[in-house]
Amino acid sequence: MFYKVSKEDEYLFQGKRKRLVEQLKEKGITDGQVLNAILKIPRHLFFDQSTGRPALLDHAYSDKALPIGAGQTISHPFTVAFQTQKLEVKRGEKVLEIGTGCGYQTAVLIEMGAKVYSIERQRELYDKTKLFLPYIGYGSAKLYYGDGYKGLPQYAPYDKIIVTAGAPYIPQDLLQQLTIGGIMIIPIGEGAEQIMNVLIKKSGTEFDRQEFGKFKFVPMLQNKN
Ligand code: SAH
Repeated sequence: MFYKVSKEDEYLFQGKRKRLVEQLKEKGITDGQVLNAILKIPRHLFFDQSTGRPALLDHAYSDKALPIGAGQTISHPFTVAFQTQKLEVKRGEKVLEIGTGCGYQTAVLIEMGAKVYSIERQRELYDKTKLFLPYIGYGSAKLYYGDGYKGLPQYAPYDKIIVTAGAPYIPQDLLQQLTIGGIMIIPIGEGAEQIMNVLIKKSGTEFDRQEFGKFKFVPMLQNKN
């Protein structure tokens, strides 16, 4: 069963989220929609309960990557905010997410009015997040267990694609599933650090590509374990 917080807890966490939003603004996040989503979503409910909940509850609103189970981590709030801001999400847009994880990034996109499709390759995380997101009111996301390198061709094209694991290269299937004029954000690199890449699809074969500094993600894995 999932952890439920009391009303007093909620007030405490509301205050912590306000402070987190202030920190994100100081670090350059300006998109009001992104900041509103982060202000609203109870990030402390998204962690792996087997890893010592009280300690994690204390850290839920610090700008840290934290464990979510299956050896994976939830991205730093700044990373989530940065990637989402670069996607320029508008209400009603179709967004494909690679790496559902605990569903926090998914919830941010839903809060911004996107229609979210998300793929996760770890069965344990997929099963848990599929139950958890509806439980906290984000049940509109369409979640899939599978290989993110292949995307979800059955629902393509997507207005936006967000990859939340470090990829060794840009998967061609994902580029194909992006609409013309669409934006894809993907951290590229095989070591501990990746370079954030933003691609804008100009035509069936042309893309603008920009780089936005170093980030740390868990790897985007290629074959099933
Ligand atoms: N967006 C997530 C971030 C989780 S970390 C969140 O907010 O919690 C990245 C996730 O990508 C992990 O859950 C990992 O299992 C998943 N992943 C790694 N390689 C993948 C692949 N090839 N296809 C789909 N998901 C993948």
